[in-house]
Amino acid sequence: MRTGLWPKPFKYFDQVRVFLVTVCAVISLVVVTIASFLSFRNNELLTRRLRDQAHNYAELILQMKAWNASYGGVYVRKRSEADVNPFLKELGKEPEIRDIRGRVFVLRNHAVMVKELSQRFAASKGSRFRPVSLNPIDPDNAPDPFEREALLQINGGAPEVYRLERNAGAPPRFRYIHPLRADASCLDCHPTNVGGLIGAISVTIPAVTAVRETDKNNTFIMVSAIAIVGLLIGITYLLTWRLVVGLDKVQRRLKKQASTDELTGLANRRTVMQRLEEESQRSQRLGEPLCITIFDLDHFKQINDTHGHPFGDFVLKRIAETMKEALRSYDILGRIGGEEFILVSPETGIDEAARQADRVRRRVSEQAINDGTREVRLTVSAGVTAVADDDETIGSILRRADAALYQAKQEGRNRVVSR
Ligand code: GH3
Ligand code: MG
Ligand code: MG
Repeated sequence: MRTGLWPKPFKYFDQVRVFLVTVCAVISLVVVTIASFLSFRNNELLTRRLRDQAHNYAELILQMKAWNASYGGVYVRKRSEADVNPFLKELGKEPEIRDIRGRVFVLRNHAVMVKELSQRFAASKGSRFRPVSLNPIDPDNAPDPFEREALLQINGGAPEVYRLERNAGAPPRFRYIHPLRADASCLDCHPTNVGGLIGAISVTIPAVTAVRETDKNNTFIMVSAIAIVGLLIGITYLLTWRLVVGLDKVQRRLKKQASTDELTGLANRRTVMQRLEEESQRSQRLGEPLCITIFDLDHFKQINDTHGHPFGDFVLKRIAETMKEALRSYDILGRIGGEEFILVSPETGIDEAARQADRVRRRVSEQAINDGTREVRLTVSAGVTAVADDDETIGSILRRADAALYQAKQEGRNRVVSR
């Protein structure tokens, strides 16, 4: 398609189009790659930040647990019967004591403390944690599907497991599982060795704000990328367009300069010879007649000698115009020397070409050339020939026309001779 985007078709339109499409594709690819990378980094940073937060959280819980264990549990004031933990008795611990003033205290070992703290946190809207195990002693510590999967991975050697959950319909949250290894205080309940895996701390962090901010950033990156791609493509298109239009103009001008005679504006020797070659091949191919005529102004040297070279140039221009006016639009007229012209007449037999040459001769001879200060009249001689089947080269055609012209000069000038 050569309309719409382009004001006019260029000679190298297809190459320019391939160039532009390639440049636009490269720009898009580079910008999209950068934007995707930034977006990916953004998401990674979010996950890393949430992971660090969850990890610190788990560390804090483990420290609290260790603190409690280092005292073999701590006693707290009893508020109700429900505060007494019956399991402790089975472990040989004293779940309830009374001081000398009669106040009653109940034992909170590390497992009970962690469980109670996790229940307090569960009631809040913030982050949560809880101990989980594949073989829980306390049924409340049974894992959900994610925790189960994570526990299996930790059993397989994973140092930690985490995931940002973004399920439709639920607010986004970050899940983190940290292995829980047995210390001496755990061996009472857990049949394992010190350092053995007894479960994990499962941390859940609400991630609504962090995810929203990250999504905003990603949207900003993508919108910027689209704007940058648009801008770069626009600038590339505009600059290329201006460059190509400029080059096209220069190229046309150079081509015109290279193909025309500067003084008269007619085709120059090179162009007219090229056209003669083409027309000669065409006429032989189609069997159509083709003639050429060489015109030479008579005694032109005298014009220069009498009136000066600039006036001679003026005369040459006017003669060229007169000759052109006497011809058909498809005849090809060129200046091939100082005051010599050649006419290529396609689809024209020798008689018609001779008549045509004579019409030119008569017009030239009838024309008074006046530059406002002086007036001259000129005649022209012409040699006409038809391109024959046995003409092997353009040279042989030109030689025949030249010979006819020479004859016209010899016979007294201001005449047409055909051969
Ligand atoms: P003839 O009838 O035998 O052709 O005589 P002539 O004087 O026309 O031929 P000759 O070849 O002796 O002279 C041609 C002259 O054309 C010589 C030169 O001064 C003139 N001439 C050639 N080119 C130009 C040009 O570009 N401008 C001008 N003003 N004169 C030119
Ligand atoms: Mg001459
Ligand atoms: Mg002459």
